[in-house]
Amino acid sequence: MHKVKLLNGASSLEFLPNLSAKLGPKIFIKRDDEGGRGGGGNKLRKYERIIADAIDKKADTLIIAGHYQSNAARELVGAACQLGLKSIVVCKDMIPEQNPTFNQNGNALLLKLMNAKIVPISTHDDFQAEMEKVAKDVIKSGHLPYIIPFGGSNLLGALGYLDCANEIIEQFGSIAGKSPDYIVTPTGSGGTMAGLVAGFAIENMSTKVIGFSVLHKDETIKNIVTNLTAEIITSVKPNSNIEANFELDTNFVGDAYGATTESGKKAIRMLAELEGLFLCPVYTGKAMAGLIDYIEKNKVKNDDTIVFIHTGGMPLVHAYYNTFE
Ligand SMILES: *Cc1c(COP(=O)(O)O)cnc(C)c1O
Repeated sequence: MHKVKLLNGASSLEFLPNLSAKLGPKIFIKRDDEGGRGGGGNKLRKYERIIADAIDKKADTLIIAGHYQSNAARELVGAACQLGLKSIVVCKDMIPEQNPTFNQNGNALLLKLMNAKIVPISTHDDFQAEMEKVAKDVIKSGHLPYIIPFGGSNLLGALGYLDCANEIIEQFGSIAGKSPDYIVTPTGSGGTMAGLVAGFAIENMSTKVIGFSVLHKDETIKNIVTNLTAEIITSVKPNSNIEANFELDTNFVGDAYGATTESGKKAIRMLAELEGLFLCPVYTGKAMAGLIDYIEKNKVKNDDTIVFIHTGGMPLVHAYYNTFE
């Protein structure tokens, strides 16, 4: 399962001195928001194997579905530009909270600058069916399409986060001589979390991965992560009896995917003021709000060490500019 190179080596792991001093435990941040084309973010790790698979299959046109502020689409189009592939984004409105420029700035603007081909569909249209229609048109025009799985969260994509777990084990080990007590990540389609969970489990680390859901408000996401983790473990270590160590919390989604929460906004301001780092209202802000709550409730203790995964998404801060007024 080889990769196309979209990233330049390991992302950095940084200590957050001021946030740690304020909250208690030692908090580090894994900078998966940095590096790679299209502005960077967690999808690039997933695309390294997914796009390699597309190229193996002789595809020249990548098709992805998402909303107008999709990080996944922005990163895919950026990677496609770099590799000289075509890309098509099937788009619909999915986010309830909007302002007059919502579909014109942030990721939408960056997609436009990359001259992304957008196919708008209506809100009740089915993504998969519409992507398949687009794929048929691509074939008719003499090209070969490849449909990107939702959120890049199939086995190939999630293996990118197994790579990330191994990077953290090495980087954190050289700082602290052990593995961190907790990994904290936002969880949308589940591939980021499943790859991390599998990675720490396979290396037999006691590290617990805490995922804060930003999309599903029910058990669906727990099942997705459980099944994908098992699939990764089976593919890497067949017939092993490896146990996954994770917790999935669905209490920080707020009203819906993409709807802002007070605790998320507070977390965004806190990281900006204390550390000069930018989180977003859709993903990382909600996960950081979850971590802050766990520390306040003493579920995470002052002598624990935490690595927070910065999965990217800064363009969303611009899209949601009015929520910070
Ligand atoms: C897609 C995305 C996530 C969610 O990752 P999944 O693997 O889909 O769970 C988190 N943060 C950002 C910034 C994202 O773009």
